[in-house]
Amino acid sequence: MKSSLILSGIFLLAFAYAGCQQHTTEKGHENNPYYSRTDTFRLNVKNAVWKKILPPELYAVAREQATQAAFTGKYWNKNPRGTYYCAVCGNKLFRSDAKFASTCGWPSFFEAARPNAVIYREDDSYGMNRTEVICVRCGSHLGHIFDDGPPPTLKRFCMNSVSLDFVPAIKSKRPGRCTFKHDCCLFYNSIWYKLFPIFQIQIFIQKRDLSYLFVYCK
Ligand code: FE
Repeated sequence: MKSSLILSGIFLLAFAYAGCQQHTTEKGHENNPYYSRTDTFRLNVKNAVWKKILPPELYAVAREQATQAAFTGKYWNKNPRGTYYCAVCGNKLFRSDAKFASTCGWPSFFEAARPNAVIYREDDSYGMNRTEVICVRCGSHLGHIFDDGPPPTLKRFCMNSVSLDFVPAIKSKRPGRCTFKHDCCLFYNSIWYKLFPIFQIQIFIQKRDLSYLFVYCK
């Protein structure tokens, strides 16, 4: 009974700690009440509202299907370790280990972070037949997908940098214990790890989705 109470307390504190972490990582989006890297419910926000919230360049691409010029933008020629989220709503879109050096001039990925992170729509604009990539949560335009990518998918998600919000991977002081595969290990450097080293408390938030929150004690 006592041990279960302790574990319950740890679990609740884990949620609180994760909440604090989330708040800090979402810094820079204070004016956007719809931005969240944990909420997964779909948004139905009118463009008139987005126009008041989003920076003009992001609004033009995300809500009016504009395209950034090639070889411009923040991410086309960089690949630090981390995760790319929708700049409009915070939906998790791509991992850096799926990014590849493309000569097209836009940030390119061979797969999405989750199969249902994006949806696709046929796009016949500008006399071309392309497949548009759209954020599943907010319905914003991200870019297009082509069939000339590298293995294993042979797909190329050709994205606009402005539509992406990059969050660097958390560096652990315990190399090899906190893997990028698990995305986020909040407790390795926390006071709870130091207080309970025997249990080696680990919080893995896979896909930045609270439904994937687990506490492992081993
Ligand atoms: Fe979005």
